[in-house]
Amino acid sequence: MVYDVVIIGGGPAGLTAGIYSKRALLNSVLIDRIGVGGQIIVTDLVENFPGFLETSGADLAGKFEQHARKFGLEIKTLVDVSGIEDRGKTKVVQTSDGNIETKTVIIATGTTPRNLGAKNELELKGRGVSYCATCDGFFFREKTVVVVGGGDSAITEAIYLAKMAKKVIVVHRRDKLRAEKINQEHAFSNPKIKFVWDSVVEEITGKQVVEKVVVRNVKTNTTQEIITEGVFIYVGLIPNTGFVNVRKDEWGFIIANDKMETSVNGIFVAGDCRVTPLRQIATAVGDGAIAAVSAERFIEE
Ligand code: NAP
Repeated sequence: MVYDVVIIGGGPAGLTAGIYSKRALLNSVLIDRIGVGGQIIVTDLVENFPGFLETSGADLAGKFEQHARKFGLEIKTLVDVSGIEDRGKTKVVQTSDGNIETKTVIIATGTTPRNLGAKNELELKGRGVSYCATCDGFFFREKTVVVVGGGDSAITEAIYLAKMAKKVIVVHRRDKLRAEKINQEHAFSNPKIKFVWDSVVEEITGKQVVEKVVVRNVKTNTTQEIITEGVFIYVGLIPNTGFVNVRKDEWGFIIANDKMETSVNGIFVAGDCRVTPLRQIATAVGDGAIAAVSAERFIEE
């Protein structure tokens, strides 16, 4: 059996591609190495997806899935993709569940949070070092936590953590945040959130669990210790694109044109794992729709 479309990745981009491809009556399957939803399922508050004034990422992901299933999208979870063989007219997607032959592929595999590279970070992972405030924030009720980074992830998660922690200290390597202005305003006006500017976390220490971090000011080269029980790291994203051989930028994000076509005929991309000026649910959804329509036209032609 040869599918029309194999969608790899079950976040907003992949599920939207699923909805559009099924409505085009294509024989499509979506596969995900974990479950559907993608990274948004660990986002506590979403307030910039049009039509939803305030919702949680998990709730929105559930609605996307329900919508895709309504049109009969086949979904395979806990299936890992290791490679894609280009046979010209068809592609063979190599998975932990066997090979799947298809006319087109849409890659919507998103990204994984990056490690900071601080001393003892990996040793103390799960023992105070975390990459997911929604998952672990609860353990830090009435405690002091450090958040590393200055992008939207760091700032929105700092705001989330401030709901339960006693104090949130954001350590950022510059004196300006990268995050959206509205997120910045929310953080600056939150009395529980403090900032340590121009500084990097060099070391995380603790015998069994995190006890403190050593922070160096990059302008003065002085170091200080911050007593904390939790360190939440949000220093950017690594694209999940290692399994596919298409043109990428120096960081591994897939390069595509405005039709979401990659450098290989019949392989399309959508969402956070591509080179894009904005990584949001709204843009991922738009990419997914375009990728599915492009796949449909490719098959017709
Ligand atoms: P990001 O925008 O790439 O920000 C990463 C942050 O980490 C930057 O502030 C960067 O500093 C800092 N950083 C990178 N490497 C570092 C290092 N080695 N040491 C210390 N700091 C380091 O990543 P993100 O915040 O995960 O966001 C990814 C995308 O998702 C963005 O497009 C973002 O807008 C989107 N997003 C949106 C929302 C929302 O609510 N709208 C929420 C989450 C994510 P510099 O600023 O100095 O480069």
